[in-house]
Order: sequence, then structure tokens, then C-alpha cells
Amino acid sequence: MRPRGERRDWVAYARVSTAEQAEKDLSLPAQCKAIAEFATRHGALIEEQYVEAGASGTDASRPVFNRLLGDALKPTSTISTIVVHHTSRFTRDATHARVVKTKLRKAGVRVLSVLQDFADDPMGTLMEGLFECIDQYESELNGLRTSAAMREAVKQGFWPGARAPYGYRSVPVEVRPGLERHGLEVESREAALVREAFTLYIAGSGAKSVARMLNQRGLRTRAGDLWSKSRVTLLLSEEALTGTVHWGMRKDGLLRPRAEWLSLTVPQVIDAETWALVQRLRREREPSRSPGRAPSQPKLLKGLVWCGACGASYQYETSGKRVVDGHYTYGYYNCRSLLRVGKEACAGFRIPLKTLDDAVLDAIERVVCTEPRFRLLRLDAPAESVLKEWRVLLRRDDVARTYVQHLIERIVIHHDGRIVITPKTGGRTEMEA
Ligand SMILES: [Zn+2]
Repeated sequence: MRPRGERRDWVAYARVSTAEQAEKDLSLPAQCKAIAEFATRHGALIEEQYVEAGASGTDASRPVFNRLLGDALKPTSTISTIVVHHTSRFTRDATHARVVKTKLRKAGVRVLSVLQDFADDPMGTLMEGLFECIDQYESELNGLRTSAAMREAVKQGFWPGARAPYGYRSVPVEVRPGLERHGLEVESREAALVREAFTLYIAGSGAKSVARMLNQRGLRTRAGDLWSKSRVTLLLSEEALTGTVHWGMRKDGLLRPRAEWLSLTVPQVIDAETWALVQRLRREREPSRSPGRAPSQPKLLKGLVWCGACGASYQYETSGKRVVDGHYTYGYYNCRSLLRVGKEACAGFRIPLKTLDDAVLDAIERVVCTEPRFRLLRLDAPAESVLKEWRVLLRRDDVARTYVQHLIERIVIHHDGRIVITPKTGGRTEMEA
């Protein structure tokens, strides 16, 4: 093996996840033994073993793995080679694998795999990359396989370790030495926010204004994001808060019969009466949840309009309840951040659907319906009458959509009323709303 400066030590990294611990051929001693034999075959010796139990290959915060990286990347490190049993032990995320291995390579450290002995040439690199992708795919498959094990854990009264519902946290419970399960306990700060949200909603605020009030108080979601209408709605409908978590309600995306749901009793955050009251209020206050709403018409500029202030997409907003021929009389486009989260996220700038659609069609007309273009098409009808027909045709729904999709890259609405249209062909058009 080529020694790189002072780096000449080989080390081992072995890992099993909690779900894999039962599988014999993956056991930590078996991995370490295979790695040692591999090193011997290459005339080397394993100087140190980094052994990680109970950590998933998709987990970025594996303590032993991070210690290994820290040790190997140190400028004074003597590590030249990290040996794993299989690339999936190193990491199951193909992108993460690339990033980490590139860093290590730059520092002069190789990662070798016992089961996939890649050559140190372009083909080897290609094979390695392929295996990393396969590892990621398998990791996703494993997620499906473990669902049976999760159902079993719930039957035994444990939380199967996935994300805890809002208001709770998952805490480890040692069933017997070496066997750990999880239980749910109340997360007091989240629970306080939940009670606050329920109280505000009962007091008359809609989900959107509840989101706004929480945001104004500086409260954020678990991920540190602003509260939005949809997040509050999810929170208000979380049945776990009443003390019963349902598990396995769906199989392959389909709802299972209620009798097959598993349930787990957890501490209550909201009493059953309050929860039921909020569900009743939601049915009353949100007409969109009741049937009979006019079907929404496909929007001409769907997916093309963006906010000039915050960069979010623009979406359709209705105002006024009058519906004519299945269309709302008053329709607007506005910034998604404002509509979903509130003023704290973006002030938004509302623009009537018709105004924007017309402005864009006018811009397209100026590009499409011109004399030179007309001559290019070698049409021999009198120019003016053909242009007129063209303009009418351009405003037919299906034709307009075709032109929009072919010609327009993006439309940015600035809050001073400027509309900037970027065509796919380059250049740009500016106009006032
Ligand atoms: Zn915005």
C-alpha cells in the first residue's frame, strides 16, 4: 500500500442499527473479524476499531462515526485507511457518502470495503458510486421492512421510535439490559403551545390568525420554522393529544379499517371534550371542508409567478363567495408566504387574477402578433385581419396556456407594482400592475 506522508495506519469502522442487531451476519464482532482478515490479506494491521451500535446509516449524528472523522481529518492524524465491512456501514446516504469521502480523500484517507473491493481507478470509482446509490435504495426499503417490527412494538405498549407527535417527546426505556424501546412523554414547552393554540381557536381565531399570533410571540415549530395555517390545522386535528395515539392506520397508502388500528395510551395534553369542540368548530368555520365547493379552474400562470420580496411562489386566493359558472367572481394571486404563514413572513402583494393574466397575454401578444413574425409564416391574407384573429385566438384558454408554457420562464411580482416577465428566449419585459 502506498504510504501518504505520515499517514500509514489502518482503522476499522463497524456499525449496526437497532433494527439490524438481531441479524447474525451483521453483528459487530463478525464485521470486525472480516475487516481484520481483509487487512491481513493486504499486508496491513488494524490499529484501532471504531465500533458503533444502535445507529442508523442515515443518521448524521453518529458519535463514533463523527469521532472517527474528527480523528482522520486532523492534520496530525496517522490514519491512511478506513476499512468497513460494506459501504452501507459507512453511510447509507449517497450524497453524504460523496461529501465525506471527498473530504477524506483530500486529507489523504481512503475508505475500503471488505465486500466491495474497488480498484483505485475510474471504474472503481464508478462502482463505488453505484454501490452508494444502492445502499441508499436499500435503506429506503429497510424502512418498509421495519414497519412490521414497529407494529409489534406498539402492541407491547412502546412508541416505535419514529418522530413523536407534537406535544410529546420520545424517551428511551430499557426493557431489559441491552434491549431498549421508546415511550412518549409530554414535552412541556410544546404542550403549552398546544394548549395556547386550542384556546385561541376556541376564542374565535381561525387557524391562520392562530399561526400569526404564535409567530408574533416568537414561537416557532419544532424545526424552528414559522407557524402556518396548515401547520396549525394539523396541530388542531392531532388526536394523540387526547391521550391515544393511533398507529398503523394506513397500509400502502390506504386507510385500514378502524378495528385494525393499534393504539397506544399516552399522557393527555388536551382533554377529550376540548378536542371534540375544536373539531366541531373547524367543521363550522372552514367551509372548504364541506362538499359543494366550486371546482377550481386551472390557472393560466400556475407555477410561473414568484414573489419579488421573499421569493416564494404566488398562489391563487379567492375573495368573495359569489360563484358564477363554477368560477369565483373575484380571484387574486398573492404570495404563498403571506397566505400560508402570515405578515411576519412576507407582506405580500395581491394582484387580481384577471389583471395579471391580461398583462401577461398582452406581453405575449406583443411578441407573437407582429408583422415580421407574420411575414415569417408566409401568410398571404391581409396582415391586419390576420393579426386581429390571432389576438382573439391567443385569448382562448387552451391556446393561451400553450403560449404561456412555451414562452414564459418566470414572472416576478414586485411589491411596488412592477411585474417582471422573463421569457424563455432571454431578455425581459417589465410592466406596471
Ligand atoms: Zn412574499
